[in-house]
Amino acid sequence: MLLLGAIADDFTGATDLANTLVRGGLRCVQTIGVPDGQLDTEADAVVVALKSRTIAAADAVAQSLAALRWLQAQHAEQIYFKYCSTFDSTPQGNIGPVTEALLDTLHGPGQGFTIACPAFPTNQRTVFKGHLFVGDVLLSDSGMRNHPLTPMTDANLVRVLQAQTQRKVGLVAHEVIAQGVAAIRKRFDGLRADGVGIAVLDAISDADLMQIGLALADVKLVTAGSGIAMGLPQNWVAHGALAHANVQALPAVSGRDAVVSGSCSVATNAQVRHFRDQGRPALQLDPMALAASDDALARALAWCDAQPPDGPLLVYATAEPAEVQRAQAELGVARAGELVEHALARIARGLVERGVRRLVVAGGETSGAVVQALGITQLAIGAQIDPGVPWTAARSPACNGDWLHLALKSGNFGSTDFFTKAFA
Ligand code: ADP
Repeated sequence: MLLLGAIADDFTGATDLANTLVRGGLRCVQTIGVPDGQLDTEADAVVVALKSRTIAAADAVAQSLAALRWLQAQHAEQIYFKYCSTFDSTPQGNIGPVTEALLDTLHGPGQGFTIACPAFPTNQRTVFKGHLFVGDVLLSDSGMRNHPLTPMTDANLVRVLQAQTQRKVGLVAHEVIAQGVAAIRKRFDGLRADGVGIAVLDAISDADLMQIGLALADVKLVTAGSGIAMGLPQNWVAHGALAHANVQALPAVSGRDAVVSGSCSVATNAQVRHFRDQGRPALQLDPMALAASDDALARALAWCDAQPPDGPLLVYATAEPAEVQRAQAELGVARAGELVEHALARIARGLVERGVRRLVVAGGETSGAVVQALGITQLAIGAQIDPGVPWTAARSPACNGDWLHLALKSGNFGSTDFFTKAFA
């Protein structure tokens, strides 16, 4: 029996939620897509990672319902639909349509009640009077207004969500949240009586998240960013369903350590520089050389074989903007990206085949490519290295089904010494 079954609309968002749940004392597994079998490890929560944020609404609904069916088959007590803390969506969805389909399935057509709350105060995402703030500015004044796929030009979440759903959208304002759990529950009842199906919640502090968490104890479906997950574990502790309240140690591994990096973010560039400056073994891949011949991969793996076995090695395509633009001008943006992702994924697989058992991957897309090349479908979530980046464990056919530890770091996460600190 699962305490929580979550459906996340993207991969790194799923990890973010899983990380929050682990910190709350749950044993958590993240699956890549809807699993076709049982879990590799025991878990209190499963986060099914979809890639449904910007696909057609009907596809997002179909995938989310498939995830729900699997989670229901595992007897998940509560369901959590996880989206981005900047409420990334288009006027067509997919937050509204997916929420509606989940409510229909769980409670019957047009029935049921849920919340919507992307707030994550630790990460500077707060909701006040139904308006989402990113740091000190409204969502619509933040960089999100220029997002290539989901430009967010309205910070009023009641209005944004109402445009995506048939159900009536309401608001639980901060003055109610601040009065605590009893007042919040009373307001839920009032909204339900008014025919509201989805209540946007204000939240500006972790204390708000804890009171909201208490008020959600009996709410079957929660829709939110990862922040709301902070307030839920206390309910299971109170019911005695979560007694162990500790992070499940990941299965032990022994072997070599390596880093592959395809992120070109400011943070990752600094991490690569820091690693090199320490005199550690690092090999840079050149996209133009990858395009010119297949030998580049074999040469890179031969270089890896020649490195001392103690301490991590690094293979990277990470480059400063000018260098990236040169490669993109020569090869095209898409081809440059594909070449690098493919190469790093093949190298990651080669490294695991050669005995690497702890692997750090830098870059969201790069992580996706590596996980796919390693044939991984489930990640058990372990302790956090830096905010948003936990160690995980997975079984991979590349090491004959043995366990392997992976840290999948999205671009701007992690301290400058991340590539050595992770292994310490
Ligand atoms: P982030 O999490 O920082 O966004 P991603 O891995 O998601 O990192 O995206 C980085 C993209 O840049 C990948 O598609 C990667 O293949 C590509 N890339 C990496 N290095 C280079 C380079 N030197 N030239 C061009 N593209 C690159």
